[in-house]
Amino acid sequence: MSASGIRKITISNLSPNSQDFLIVGVIIAKRAPKSFYSRRDGNARGVWGFTLRDSPADYINVTAWGSPDYIEFLSSTYKVGDVVDITNTRVITRNNDDQFQPTVTSCMELVFNEDISQICLHDEDDWDGFTSLLHLPTKPPSNYLNLSDIKVHGKLLSGQHTNILVAVQRVGEVREISKEGKELKVLEVIVMDKTSAGFSVQIWDEDMIQRAIQWKPRYTVLFMSDIRVSWNTFKRCMCGTIGIKSIITENPSTREAKSLANYASSAPLQSQDIIDNMAANMPNPETIVNVMSCFSVIKQAFSGESSECFTALVYAVVHEFDLDGLQNVVNSKCNTCNETVPFTTCENSSCIMKGAKTLFNYNIRISLMDHTAKLINCRLPDNVATSVLGMQAESFVQLSESQRISLKWKYLLKKTASRLVILPATKEGSPCFSVVDLTLVTFQEYASKVLIY
Ligand SMILES: [Zn+2]
Repeated sequence: MSASGIRKITISNLSPNSQDFLIVGVIIAKRAPKSFYSRRDGNARGVWGFTLRDSPADYINVTAWGSPDYIEFLSSTYKVGDVVDITNTRVITRNNDDQFQPTVTSCMELVFNEDISQICLHDEDDWDGFTSLLHLPTKPPSNYLNLSDIKVHGKLLSGQHTNILVAVQRVGEVREISKEGKELKVLEVIVMDKTSAGFSVQIWDEDMIQRAIQWKPRYTVLFMSDIRVSWNTFKRCMCGTIGIKSIITENPSTREAKSLANYASSAPLQSQDIIDNMAANMPNPETIVNVMSCFSVIKQAFSGESSECFTALVYAVVHEFDLDGLQNVVNSKCNTCNETVPFTTCENSSCIMKGAKTLFNYNIRISLMDHTAKLINCRLPDNVATSVLGMQAESFVQLSESQRISLKWKYLLKKTASRLVILPATKEGSPCFSVVDLTLVTFQEYASKVLIY
């Protein structure tokens, strides 16, 4: 067949009768190559699959067959993001319920054969038109589940494929483990969205691991289509796995992804910060009505039954409220260089030039006690401390010692209704307690509500 007889065609125009065509597209996903012995002639054969896209609406799976060496060569040569020319492939109708390939829009599939088909890098300067397709999710932009829904409805979804839109929170270390006699690599990536953080996604595919180690916490946003979610009995929470059906779109150019990127750039990433942020932004503290004793809060926080945070209304006496002690009650930071500064202004010369100001934030931990137990290290987030003390941290630092002492005695050893949000202990860390609301109560109310077990 002469090259002149070959015409260029798009994925949308393919039919089972298409012949002698050239197709140009960008590789948006690839699977690991496999080799096996043919049942027909006993010869070793290799197979490799990848997904090709040539327009926002059109993407297709390609299956390449050949000797194991050739297939290994192909799969190591071409990577996600490459724009390729493919000629002399066969077109077949796609199997609708294929569990071993990503879901695509084309009803066709391309079969590439070592003996008759050719692939090479596209040699024209229109790559940009194709590579911009790498930022379009392969599912409708709003077709994804929130991480909090996956956590809450976890066990119902276990074993299923779903889509998520997330920002990278942490990229772990690549670990090597042996499984069924094979040496495998695995990488855990922790992701977040606006509803939840700390969701673990495992990656077993080597090429995908190479992509993932480039991802940047807070900056990389990912649309993950068809990742498998399942209950992890070791971690006691829902986790995701990137598999052969998954397509990962990096930094999608959608409105939803831009909004998440904006959120992730400044979202809290440490457990205590996350829980403080939740406590500080809880819209209706009065909806926390489940009364718990200090002992039952501690018991649930250490039970290991779930890693999901919970809320509690605790009737307890404020046992420590160290407003005049040695601990730093107020943090002061320069608003320009973000360094901690003494109560004056930043001494950094460039900050002085820019007219930097000092920002004050409460940093208060209290203890709550009833006759069952004592809850130590409960954080009062800045806005909660402001409303409890009736003044901003900026004004607090101006108070005299005697004024601080009298403010302290407004709460110390007094009976309160304390609304808390609690992040249970995990394998990585201790539980975190954050106060959503702290209200003085009368002896009568306290006596009628406090739990005795
Ligand atoms: Zn400064």
